[in-house]
Amino acid sequence: MNNLSKPSHSDFFSHLYIEESVIDEPLTKEIISKFSNSKIIMIKHYKDVFNRPNQDFAMQSRSKNLILARREAPFLYEGSYYSDGFEYENFFYTPSILGCLYDCDYCYLSGMYNSANSVLFVNTDDFFEALTPYLEKPTLIAISYDTDTLAIESITSHTKIWIEHAAKHPNLHLEIRTKSANFKAIKSLTCNENIVLAWTLSPQKIIESYEHKTPSLEKRLRSIKEAIDAGWKVRVCIDPVIYNEEFHELYPPLIDKLFNTIEPEKLFQLTLGSFRMSSTHLKRIKKLRRSDIAFYPYEIKDNIVSYSKEIEQNILETMIERATNYIPRTRIRTWQLQ
Ligand code: SF4
Repeated sequence: MNNLSKPSHSDFFSHLYIEESVIDEPLTKEIISKFSNSKIIMIKHYKDVFNRPNQDFAMQSRSKNLILARREAPFLYEGSYYSDGFEYENFFYTPSILGCLYDCDYCYLSGMYNSANSVLFVNTDDFFEALTPYLEKPTLIAISYDTDTLAIESITSHTKIWIEHAAKHPNLHLEIRTKSANFKAIKSLTCNENIVLAWTLSPQKIIESYEHKTPSLEKRLRSIKEAIDAGWKVRVCIDPVIYNEEFHELYPPLIDKLFNTIEPEKLFQLTLGSFRMSSTHLKRIKKLRRSDIAFYPYEIKDNIVSYSKEIEQNILETMIERATNYIPRTRIRTWQLQ
């Protein structure tokens, strides 16, 4: 299953865990209808399955299952320090899906959750209601913060539901971040100036080494081009940059490849940033012993691990120098430790 853009539903989710309280929800019924071969297990509360201690994250990653549940408040969290709030006064992320179908070695989710399964909260209207008081001013919501929402779109319609909600609320701005090649899932929707589709790109060698189950670079680039051609605002995030001795051979050519595929003036923004993570999450990822990324000799400052200042500087300067061959510096955003 290298490309989840058009999954066969029988390829995954051998089990659906369903909270009793959501069995009659329309979205639950729709999802059940797509998984006629999956075993349905009724549960009292999603945490009984998802938060259970001593789960084998690596084994679950090979065969993920889906939990359908009802979310209780909070429905919104203040935007994270690790991500860019784009100067919005109101910047939140929404935990409407927890867990991801992809399996990146550097993903903080594996350091945060006990389970590699995904939880979908089907009571979307409660998320919208919680958001309403903020919509008197421009409010940015990151809807794919704890997941890759486009990767799971054919099952959940989650991205579509949020895009349609944003169409009714001019102050609702969305960032939809993805590594998928699944633009076609939302292609029929009307594009919206207040929504940014943000694709994360990595060199193919990094994808093969660390971004398991994600689409290839070529497929992501094709999806980006389709989205831009359809009129969507697209941000490309080369973030996180995974540093190794091949950095100079891998990353500047990625920028060339990007701008040889799309017209530079049509890209809304480019975001650059190097790997960083809370040291608490990294400690948990180390225990999984799945990847050399966890064992790099990072520096720790204020509970954040990152490359040394010199390496971080080298990454950004190299990337900015190459990118400004194509777009002005003003359209390049960078994430750097203060
Ligand atoms: S695509 Fe994002 S959310 Fe999904 S595993 Fe990779 S880093 Fe984590």
